Amino acid sequence: MKKFLVLFLYLFSTQSIAGSHAYSAWRQHSFRKVDTETVRVANARLSLNVTFFTDTPSTRSVEMYFDEVAEATYNLLASKIAIGPASRSGRCYNWRIVVYEMNQWNINSRNVMYWYPWRNQSQRLYGAYDSNHTTSSSTAVIVLRSDISNLERKRTLAHELTHYWYDMCVADGNPGERYAEAAESLF
Ligand SMILES: [Zn+2]
Repeated sequence: MKKFLVLFLYLFSTQSIAGSHAYSAWRQHSFRKVDTETVRVANARLSLNVTFFTDTPSTRSVEMYFDEVAEATYNLLASKIAIGPASRSGRCYNWRIVVYEMNQWNINSRNVMYWYPWRNQSQRLYGAYDSNHTTSSSTAVIVLRSDISNLERKRTLAHELTHYWYDMCVADGNPGERYAEAAESLF
């Protein structure tokens, strides 16, 4: 009987996290939820749970090419280092991803992006990745600037998704910056 209760609570808590904000402070922010979807990454043998939020509803979400970029960035990283089924540790971690698309004012606001390790006052962002400051565990965040060209958004998504793969599949405490930079030239 106890087993059933634990299972039920586990299912319930997983359900309540799915589709919600990654930071409780951002519930007050004027984001619109675009969608929650399951993205199958064949070579990684994973199904990612991805939720998209935007403050720029007039711009089409990167959701339209997310699966393509997820597959391409996984394949590129796997071609450079042993990750996933090819590695000694086997499968990668599978944290849910929350993607936030923001205009230039919000993404560069020190108030909104309170968790970002800003280097100086003049620093400006196109994208960011975080898995350390989220409200719920097993949640990773990708932030993208919305008011740039489609191609620039795709390249920025490739950069930030490579940070995700490195975090989930290598997990050595490094960000994998040079791999992220290399992924930009996929598109
Ligand atoms: Zn980077």
